[in-house]
Amino acid sequence: TTATELVQATLDNIKATDDQLNAFITTNPESALEAAKALDKAGQFDNALAGIPLGLKDNMATKGIQTSAASRILKDFKPVYTATAVDKLNAAGAISVGKANMDEFAMGGSTETSYYKTTTNAWDHTKVPGGSSGGSAAAVAGGQVPFALGSDTGGSIRQPAAFNGIVGMKPTYGRVSRWGLFAMASSLDQIGPFTRTVKDNALVLNTISGHDQRDSTSATREVPDFTSKLTGDVKGLRIAVPKEYFGEGIDERVSVTVRAAIAQLEALGATVDEVSLPHTKYGVAAYYIIMSSEASSNLQRYDGVKYGFRADDVKNLEDLYVKTRSEGFGDEVKRRIMLGTFSLSAGAYDAFFKKAAKIRTLIIEDFNKVFEDYDVIVGPTAPTVAYGIGEEIDDPTAMYLADVLTIPVNLAGLPGMSVNAGFVDNLPVGLQIIGKPFDESTVYQTGYAFE
Ligand code: GLN
Repeated sequence: TTATELVQATLDNIKATDDQLNAFITTNPESALEAAKALDKAGQFDNALAGIPLGLKDNMATKGIQTSAASRILKDFKPVYTATAVDKLNAAGAISVGKANMDEFAMGGSTETSYYKTTTNAWDHTKVPGGSSGGSAAAVAGGQVPFALGSDTGGSIRQPAAFNGIVGMKPTYGRVSRWGLFAMASSLDQIGPFTRTVKDNALVLNTISGHDQRDSTSATREVPDFTSKLTGDVKGLRIAVPKEYFGEGIDERVSVTVRAAIAQLEALGATVDEVSLPHTKYGVAAYYIIMSSEASSNLQRYDGVKYGFRADDVKNLEDLYVKTRSEGFGDEVKRRIMLGTFSLSAGAYDAFFKKAAKIRTLIIEDFNKVFEDYDVIVGPTAPTVAYGIGEEIDDPTAMYLADVLTIPVNLAGLPGMSVNAGFVDNLPVGLQIIGKPFDESTVYQTGYAFE
């Protein structure tokens, strides 16, 4: 098969299946086919990803192709540059065919806050795909593309991977450049891969990782070969299981499925102990203050002057800002801008932002303590399996609480991956594997042995 045939077949298949899945906001057949033809002509297939089609979450800048972050305020916005992670894939010969649906500005856990469309779960089209990277996850699980990139600020790669039964990795903070990723919360955001297998995931992370002069928070650490520990062997691996990850609010059937997965790792020779991460229950509150505060600042740039959508019939500059932002942002984005602006205000800063920052430190210390004696921490990725479209979206507090198992990993900057652990009522359950900073290799080792 030539790259051109593969890309054409991929585009045809997306056309045929996306009526139901609604995974993509935009496809770019012309530039994708052009890249495929150039690759076929050059005959350079030395990289494992050369000629392989992929999807990108629509918050990663792609030159000349609409990048909307699923918001009305960026409708028709075409960046003049491409995100570093995407550039690296391009250089490896991988071919992006489209921009995947997501929650508006990555705020949400079901992809239902998108201005454009409602993506469905690949296993059951009446269920949500999870979020915020729901389009990327559904596209991979639904067989539209072999891999996709997502971003994870509080669970947005791992939770949709869990809901769709695939592999999703949030690397260590700093592992992948955030340049060209539309910032939600800069101290938490990371780009990472969705794939159907652990090995594919490691191959993609090999390609997108590394220091970038244009992102001062990207790590200067050497990037190991993330496939090097994929031996299937976990003998002697020390696994910690936090008791808080099986507590109140976790669906009993999810717990049972995840415990069975952990027993399988134990049968393969790993040692498994119960541990405590005592500050887990404060993570959600701390996260929603820190994330909203950073987002309220990051989203100031969308003013109707520089990018995308601009309101009509405005009287003056102030009116232009107010009207554009009122009409351009959806409810969830507005809710968070208000919460964040409030948390950072002079009267509230000490009681909210500062307290949240202190909780963040306690959560980091919880993890550090466990990692003195253990190699990885495992538990469920999400408290439930995928729920019905429209079922939760009117209850933001319930949606926020559902992020309890993924948020601490972002607050501590750790790598975390979700792999499929089994099924409940024909819906996938995710096993979350959390590693030490920059130790994605051991996370992959664990997932590979289990898979
Ligand atoms: N569901 C979480 C939120 O709504 C996580 C989002 C994300 O990781 N981008 O903030």
